[in-house]
Amino acid sequence: MNATLPASVDAFRKHFPKFKDFLVSRGSEVLAPSNAFEVARFTTPQGIGVVYRNGKGQVSSWQGGADEAFAAFRAGASWSVGARKAKGKGKVRHQINALLSRDGDGCFFCGRPLGDDITVEHLVPAVHGGPNHISNLVLAHAACNQSVGHLSVAEKVRARDRMTKDAASQEGISA
Ligand SMILES: [Zn+2]
Repeated sequence: MNATLPASVDAFRKHFPKFKDFLVSRGSEVLAPSNAFEVARFTTPQGIGVVYRNGKGQVSSWQGGADEAFAAFRAGASWSVGARKAKGKGKVRHQINALLSRDGDGCFFCGRPLGDDITVEHLVPAVHGGPNHISNLVLAHAACNQSVGHLSVAEKVRARDRMTKDAASQEGISA
């Protein structure tokens, strides 16, 4: 393992305030840990980076490019979430970025901000010949995407009208 990586959770936490500034200033989104064994969670060029701990107060593993981010932080090296690697998920990420700039950061169905919960929805499903081109794609929350997965395009548009209205009324916005 890389010698610049802290071995203990305490050592990692000492660095964390500055590491967090480093991440945010380079386009990373620092997320809340999703369980007790996560010390830190943030977006990386590979997707989501997570720093894990074990029950002995040691940092046990660095996933999703978290180690590269920390090593770059310690070395003062260049690192940026914008510089995503063009492999595997890179293509999906590229589509997501294209859709974000076309449609903005709102779920196609409910209209609420997507945040970290982004799925790519095919309006015409791939199994029905829908192309994997952004003309046929929208961004949606995983749950919203799932709730309309089996519907036709016309039904999806009606579901969208209903979900947008529901979201607005829940937030006390009168139409
Ligand atoms: Zn939604």
